[in-house]
Amino acid sequence: MSRRPDPRTYDLDRLRAEVLAEDGGEVHDSIPQLAEADSGFCALAIALPDGSVRSSAQADVRFSVQSAVKPFLFALALFDTDGEALDRIGIEPTGEAFDAIKLESGTGRPPNPMVNAGALLTAALVDGDDVAARDERILAGLSAFAGRALEVDEEVARDEHLLGDRNHALAHLMRAEGTLRVSADDAVAVYARACAVLVDAEALAVMGATLAFGGRNPVTGEQVVPADVARDVVSVMATCGVYDGSGRWMRAVGVPAKSSVSGAIVLSAPGRLGAAVVSPPLDGYGTSVRGHAASRRLSDDLGLHVFGDTGEPTGMPAPRD
Ligand code: GLU
Repeated sequence: MSRRPDPRTYDLDRLRAEVLAEDGGEVHDSIPQLAEADSGFCALAIALPDGSVRSSAQADVRFSVQSAVKPFLFALALFDTDGEALDRIGIEPTGEAFDAIKLESGTGRPPNPMVNAGALLTAALVDGDDVAARDERILAGLSAFAGRALEVDEEVARDEHLLGDRNHALAHLMRAEGTLRVSADDAVAVYARACAVLVDAEALAVMGATLAFGGRNPVTGEQVVPADVARDVVSVMATCGVYDGSGRWMRAVGVPAKSSVSGAIVLSAPGRLGAAVVSPPLDGYGTSVRGHAASRRLSDDLGLHVFGDTGEPTGMPAPRD
């Protein structure tokens, strides 16, 4: 008989206290708001099929979503273009960092929607004739995923736009290749605002759950995107969501996820739950050190690995990376 803990009573505060003991990693410093993040901040939340949301301490503390927004931008682009986004963006992992200045050879397309080149393009593909209209569509779409009205941190959006030199470079490169059809500056502006949307761990867990449950938000009951869109997005999260650390992540944690430089990770365990873990210090792959440890433990304890449940919780040390 399984001794697995029930997710409805799983002790997230105990897990939080355990991972708080991990003290490696560096806070990302690309913009002042990220550099000033509290390295001791740590929050966890899970959203379950019955619409219940369970959380640890600090799960109502807000942070900018950063790259954890990318799966949702991809979902909105797929929906708004009726799948054409799949012709405009690759879906192969790169084995390179999130902001590598590189496009798919031969096509000039972004390699996948989970790296910056791809997210600049998905943000440009959502419905809207100009920057303001696309911003509005994205904010409304993200709010539907979260089941509550979200807002943009204007200072973060401004600094992401001003200081995102590599994003400007990628947008110009895609213009030169003919794959980006809005102006480079407009593309960076929309993407910067999407990265600057404020969420907390609870909201991000519900967003992940909406993808995990076939595009239907388990809290509001709204079908935000069709099930085939959600399946495409979760598939690409599995292969590309943790950048050049995606293979290691899938082996160790085994749950489709997206990392981000704010230290947030959103997880979508198909049919099981959505989760968010956040703590700012990052490892060399741009993944939260505590977030990775918490995700691995959660997956192990609740049997979430998509390629097989090894049976009882192992309590084994993390495998070699
Ligand atoms: N806004 C960040 C950037 O474009 C997102 C990167 C990330 O979170 O991995 O550089």
